[in-house]
Amino acid sequence: MTTFTNGLMALALGMGICAGSVLAQDKGTIGIAMPTKSSARWISDGNSMVEQFQAAGYEADLQYAEDDIPNQLAQIENMITKEVDALVIAAIDGTTLSNALANAAALDIPVIAYDRLIRDSGDVSYYATFDNFKVGVQQAESLVSGLESNFGDSETWNVELFGGSPDDNNAYFFYDGAMSVLQPLIDSGKINVKSGQMGMDTVGTLRWDGAVAQARMDNLLSAHYTEDQVQGLLSPYDGLSIGILSSLKGVGYGSGNLPMPIVTGQDAEIPSVKSILAGEQYSTVFKDTRELARVTVGMVEALLGGGEPEINDTETYDNGVKVVPSYLLEPVSVDASNWEEVLIGSGYYEKSEIE
Ligand code: BGC
Repeated sequence: MTTFTNGLMALALGMGICAGSVLAQDKGTIGIAMPTKSSARWISDGNSMVEQFQAAGYEADLQYAEDDIPNQLAQIENMITKEVDALVIAAIDGTTLSNALANAAALDIPVIAYDRLIRDSGDVSYYATFDNFKVGVQQAESLVSGLESNFGDSETWNVELFGGSPDDNNAYFFYDGAMSVLQPLIDSGKINVKSGQMGMDTVGTLRWDGAVAQARMDNLLSAHYTEDQVQGLLSPYDGLSIGILSSLKGVGYGSGNLPMPIVTGQDAEIPSVKSILAGEQYSTVFKDTRELARVTVGMVEALLGGGEPEINDTETYDNGVKVVPSYLLEPVSVDASNWEEVLIGSGYYEKSEIE
C-alpha cells in the first residue's frame, strides 16, 4: 500500500472515530459539581467521572467551587438552567441546596449525591459513597494499633481528637465510627483526652481546613502538653494531618526525646503517603475515586436509560426528608506496611509519584 493510501485510511479511520464520538455525545450532558481543587482527591474524582461519562457517550460539564458555598450554588443553578440531563453533586455544605434541587426536580433532572450526602431535600435520587462509618472505625483501629506498637509501654495514652467539617454529613459518620472504637478505651482510662475536648461541635474543623487544624493543634500543645507528651491524634483527613504534623514538628516532636505521635488521615493524598514513608504520618484511608466514579456513572446510565441503579444500602443515609438509597464502597486502611500493594498495586499511583 502506498503512503498516500495509508494516509487516506488513517484519515478515514480518524473521521470514523470522530463521527462515532459525535454520535456518542448525543446521549446528553451531565453536570458535575465538585467542592474544591485544593485537595487532590476531588481532582481525581472529577477526572475519573469526565473520562468515564465520555466513554459512555455523555458530555460532562465539570465545575469546582473552591469551597465557596454561593459559588457552588450558582454553578448548580446554571447547570439546571442549561437543562443538563443529570446532576452529580459533591456538596460543600450539604444543607443549602434544597431550592435548587426543587428546580431540578421540576425539570425531571435526577440528582446523585456524590460522596457527601445532600441533606434536607426530597429531590436527591441516589447516593454514591464509601462506608463512611467504617472509615472512622479504620482510622481509630489504626490509631490504637499504632499506639500499641509505638507506645506499648505507656499505661495511658494521651490522645486528642479532630473532626471534619460540621457542614459535611460525612464528618459525623467518620467521628462516630472512630468513637465506636475509642470511647470504650476512654471510659476505661486507657486513653486520656487531656483537653477534655470531645464531640463534633467542639472538635469539628470548618471546611476541612488544614490551617485551622494546625492552629487548634498549636493551642492544644501550649495549653495541655507543656509537661506531658501527646501520643495520638485522630485526624479524619490528610489535609488536616499535614497541618497537625507541622504544629507537632514545630515544637520538636519527631526528634530527640519527643517521639512522633500516631497521626491518622484519609484519602491517601501524595504528600501524606510520602509523610507515611518518612515515618511522620502513621496511616491514611484509601478510597478509590475511580470506583466511586464507576458506581456513579452506572447510576446515571441506569436512571437515564430507564433502569434501576445498583444499590447496597437502603437504611443508613436519612437526609432529614428521606432515606436516600445508596451504594457504599469499601475503604481500605493504608500504612507503611501495605501502601505499595494498595496504592501502586491498584495502579492508583505510579511509584515514581511517591518515591
Ligand atoms: C470526604 C473525604 C475527604 C473530606 C475532605 C469528605 O466528605 O468523604 O474523603 O477527606 O471530605 O475533602
